[in-house]
Amino acid sequence: MINLILFGPPGSGKGTQAAKLIEQFHLIHISTGDLFRYEMSHDTPLGQEAKAYMAKGELVPDSVTIGMLRNKVESHPEAAGFIFDGFPRTIPQAQALDALLAEKGTEVAALLALHVGDEEIVQRIKLRGNTSGRADDNDESIIRNRINVYKNETHPVFDFYGKKGKSQTINGIGTVDEIFERLCEAIRRLL
Ligand code: AMP
Repeated sequence: MINLILFGPPGSGKGTQAAKLIEQFHLIHISTGDLFRYEMSHDTPLGQEAKAYMAKGELVPDSVTIGMLRNKVESHPEAAGFIFDGFPRTIPQAQALDALLAEKGTEVAALLALHVGDEEIVQRIKLRGNTSGRADDNDESIIRNRINVYKNETHPVFDFYGKKGKSQTINGIGTVDEIFERLCEAIRRLL
């Protein structure tokens, strides 16, 4: 099994790249943001719980997020590996992921962090907002809050895996194909 964390601030291209990587490496893509949006669109209790946090650009509580992630991983017993996109976003989430994978006799192979500067991110997310229909992509103060939450709460996860020698930074500026090639090179070195 090869389990990868695709890391980076909102708007850094994680979703776009994950979609290409799963084809190349036959992995299962798990985006906690997509899972929350699915639950919200079906007005489930989980969706209702997540809604207020997402609207403000705050993180959904760990207990809710970790439970949802575990269910999703366990629904794919046949997986050759996973690409985690937008998870883990806190140290407790990282610890829970490590424990879950250890139960299955596997582990995180690497955390690949797409590096993109703040102003580029704000511009990209605003552009995406024109077509994504996401309320959290259409308000600059919410976008900036998401970037701050990333820096304060999520970036420590880079160092958490860095201490295990698993974190790598990938230049997230360039064409989709150029960035994809950089990610593929990093993954091939792991195989
Ligand atoms: P994303 O699509 O990854 O940008 O996530 C959109 C929103 O969903 C975030 O701003 C959070 O409110 C929520 N969310 C997604 N993933 C997580 C996570 N791992 N932990 C907590 N909240 C999350």
